[in-house]
Amino acid sequence: MTFQGKTHPMARRRQIYEGKAKILYEGPEPGTLIQYFKDDATAFNAQKKGTINGKGVLNNRISEHVFTLLAGIGIPTHFIRRLNMREQLIRQVEIVPIEVVVRNVVAGSLAKKLGIEEGTPLPRTIIEYYYKDDALGDPLVTDEHILCFGWASQEELHDMADMAIRVNDFLSGLFAGIGIRLVDFKLEFGRIWDNDYSRIILADEISPDGCRLWDMTTGEKLDKDRFRRDLGGEVEAYQEVARRLGLFPEGEDSAVLDLESHRKRRGK
Ligand code: UDP
Repeated sequence: MTFQGKTHPMARRRQIYEGKAKILYEGPEPGTLIQYFKDDATAFNAQKKGTINGKGVLNNRISEHVFTLLAGIGIPTHFIRRLNMREQLIRQVEIVPIEVVVRNVVAGSLAKKLGIEEGTPLPRTIIEYYYKDDALGDPLVTDEHILCFGWASQEELHDMADMAIRVNDFLSGLFAGIGIRLVDFKLEFGRIWDNDYSRIILADEISPDGCRLWDMTTGEKLDKDRFRRDLGGEVEAYQEVARRLGLFPEGEDSAVLDLESHRKRRGK
């Protein structure tokens, strides 16, 4: 974590944290933050770095859509509202230092670690926990470690696993309906405090950066593996996900991104 306490020169607001793909700024009211989506992409614990032009705009929009739908089925989330193309207003949480990975199909690190072919469907959903620590490369941990080191309580672990399964059921159906297989994804959770009580809510983002999304008929990858594996066509893949989710009326997505790059060229 890098707490920088910098002031953004344009917006004159305090930067709270800068991560690999997002920046958090102080929000307009206590208990709120502004989450800014960058175009930066990293993989393999930031050993591979790059920029995907327009990714931030797409992830902001996709994540807004998904979090809004999840709130609709009763999943508490940090999302309040989208502010503009790259920013959303969120509730400030105390991030639980665990990445919760949900898997429906063997891929990525699981395929590699166990020597199982990518694409093998799993007979039951697997939930894995990774301890969020860049210096350690986010090691896989068990609930025993999480409880022993006090990263989350038994009740919090239960709530996170329960929400992860509900999110998986909902999103698997949502994506299946638009011809996309939800292979796996990563969730992050945060604590919000109400006097001495805290509860767990869904935080971070849900976008093709943290999900594996495969076209159901062609098997084409519509997610960050395009970047990780040098397949190219990253932004087109993210755009395709947004388009199938019905987020951009015909043609509007490219218009939005063209406008963005136009602004950048003019240095605005
Ligand atoms: N994931 C993520 N951030 C991470 C690690 C994994 O968003 O730091 C997501 C990844 O996009 C995939 C799922 O979690 O959808 C499982 O990733 P995996 O363990 O296979 O690791 P990877 O192959 O990405 O290194």
